[in-house]
Amino acid sequence: GIGSGSRSAASFAMAVKPRYHFVSGVGCFYQRTPYKIPLPADMSLLPTGSNTSTRLLAIDQVSASKEKSKKWLHALSIRPIIHLSAAELAEIPAGSTDCPYVDIGTPSGLATAAGNKNPFVSGATAIADLQSAKRVRLDAKGNFAPPLPPGPPPAAATAAASGSFFFGSMGVPRNPNGGPAGPAGVNLVPPSATATTLFIGGLLRSMTDMDLESLLQGVKYVKRPAGKAFAFVEFVSHEAARNCVESAARRGLSIQGRTLTVGWGKEREPQDRNQHTGAGDENTVIERQLIPPSEDAKTLFVAGLGHFDPTAEVVEPSSGLSAIHSALGKLFPGVVSVDQPKGKSYAFVEFESYEAAMAVVTQSINEPRVMVLQNTPLIIGWAKGDHGTGPGADRLLLEPPSATSKVLFIGNLPASATDEQLTALFAECGAISVKRPEGRDYAFLEFANTQEAQKAMKLGELTLDEHVLLVGWAKGRAAERSNQSAECWFCLASPVVKVHLIVSVGEHSYLGLPRGGLTPQHVLIAPIECVPSRVHLSAAARAEMVRFQDSVESMFQAQGCVSLRFERALRTKGSRDHMQAHMIPLSLSAVQLAKSFTAFLQKASAAKLKFHEVQDDQAIDEVVVSMEGGPYQEYFYIEIPVTAGSSLNSDNSNGAAGEVEGSDSNNRVEKGKHRRFVYVQEESATKFPMQFGLEVAAEILGQPERGHWKNCLLPEAEEASLCDDFRAAFAPFDFTLG
Ligand SMILES: [Zn+2]
Repeated sequence: GIGSGSRSAASFAMAVKPRYHFVSGVGCFYQRTPYKIPLPADMSLLPTGSNTSTRLLAIDQVSASKEKSKKWLHALSIRPIIHLSAAELAEIPAGSTDCPYVDIGTPSGLATAAGNKNPFVSGATAIADLQSAKRVRLDAKGNFAPPLPPGPPPAAATAAASGSFFFGSMGVPRNPNGGPAGPAGVNLVPPSATATTLFIGGLLRSMTDMDLESLLQGVKYVKRPAGKAFAFVEFVSHEAARNCVESAARRGLSIQGRTLTVGWGKEREPQDRNQHTGAGDENTVIERQLIPPSEDAKTLFVAGLGHFDPTAEVVEPSSGLSAIHSALGKLFPGVVSVDQPKGKSYAFVEFESYEAAMAVVTQSINEPRVMVLQNTPLIIGWAKGDHGTGPGADRLLLEPPSATSKVLFIGNLPASATDEQLTALFAECGAISVKRPEGRDYAFLEFANTQEAQKAMKLGELTLDEHVLLVGWAKGRAAERSNQSAECWFCLASPVVKVHLIVSVGEHSYLGLPRGGLTPQHVLIAPIECVPSRVHLSAAARAEMVRFQDSVESMFQAQGCVSLRFERALRTKGSRDHMQAHMIPLSLSAVQLAKSFTAFLQKASAAKLKFHEVQDDQAIDEVVVSMEGGPYQEYFYIEIPVTAGSSLNSDNSNGAAGEVEGSDSNNRVEKGKHRRFVYVQEESATKFPMQFGLEVAAEILGQPERGHWKNCLLPEAEEASLCDDFRAAFAPFDFTLG
């Protein structure tokens, strides 16, 4: 939002002190000689008053200049500040000019500003701007924050600005108290008078913890995330850590010819090395309640029991214990009672003593891998109060808050964790977006759908840089996807939905033509909102979809047609999970009709798909829910038109065709009767062929080449006119018009 040559840009450059300063909109490529810019005062590694340099490049669209010689592609090889030594930072390229922007906080600055002839900031008008620039602030996201009311005196403001200035980063330090940590930068001010952790950056992979321990004085231990170029070094005392920072500032610190970056790390409670896995972080303590609420507490909160199978536990009939009590009793000594609220995946476990409970909590910290019940890792913490609100019930949601939830909360992230690392960790479940609030140790991961998120919940213990991650369902607004319908082709609210193909809109669902329909009257019925399957529809929404279907069926029948119907509740790659029911009218003789059934059987067998026949008295959603994968599984459901009263046998396709051939083959079918089949996607099975329904229909119509929607695409104008035709024909049957 800052134009080139504007005084705001100048003010901003002065406030940010960038290493690279890009200017756009001047209509050409222009490389200014670098200019010097004072280092912030807290870069005390360098002598006071040191400068660093800023490269200024004006860039524009390549096509902006007609002259060939002015078309530039400018490549930069940028080294992050963290990898630069103090000396490198202070290196000023030959020919650098003085800073074109001035700090009016000093009398000499005022004088310079008044006489400045720089094209970007000139004369007295700059003074007012620079005065207001003193109040330029960035909020936590790096956006401009409103000016601070009332402006402090210039000199003090300058100091304040550089005091909180985090060199090389656009944002403010993560910790507003001045304790940024991690590879994003170094902090040269100790976060507290007792801090003992330093951040050491610029390490080579070949360098070992031992190298560091022998290089530095007073090291207690080195904690280095695998594969990282930095380490956190815990010192025996604050003084030892301070000496290290100061000596690095005075003389530089190098090892194997490499200058290291030394700064203060995030403050930790001094503790034993082993406890760093999961327990060290203060937030973990809150989440898992690792600190006992009182010295006579005996009850623990144990979560992760969602997949507990009571039948797999051998319980002595005489013992009188519940299966879960027996199972947990085997795992932990001293269990007195187990209270698992009905339908919940957690339990409150009372132990015979504080010590027995404490031993379990301690073990869960030191040996989390042992805390596994029936292959599911347990989350263990102290129960709060009268175990009404355990940390899980309170903070970590272990059951999806709604049937369409697909966002997970990932807690206890190390500061160094990147979005890419998180995505990689959940690669097999395909996390599609990561939202991490700035400076927080948690993130929200959105998955393609509930099933994938469920899978992610079952991944078991996950660690990132030795942090044991807390994984639960997101709640409240975080659970709502920010871009609910942004990419879905079938959400009515989606900007990509093809409005010209919509026939009729009801309260919960709508009728439309699909893109690339197989026939001019191939229609689609879908919920208005993203609902992955029929199982998750409200009763009213389900009823309305049936109503649309019946209306269309009536229309087809009036035209002497039967319909082939199929319903997809399948995950698609790019798009969202949005159930859709298709209806394709078929004008067929009984012979053709019999062949249609054969076509289905042959297609299914060629693709090795195992369909279950749905009985007349069964509802499709009941069938899906009753199957092993439960309500979240994907399915494909098809209704094949057959002659009324025929006794087709699904096991014998030839016989099926033969039987019907014997009947009156020239009669049009009067009334539609369907046989219904469902395919439920098993986790291990290969992905159901997305175009299966279309392929069957195309085969029946004798046009197998049209078995993919992409082969049937029409220009939009033709689509729109097809839709108008259909809408007119459907009007007498359209209940939404009544
Ligand atoms: Zn949708």
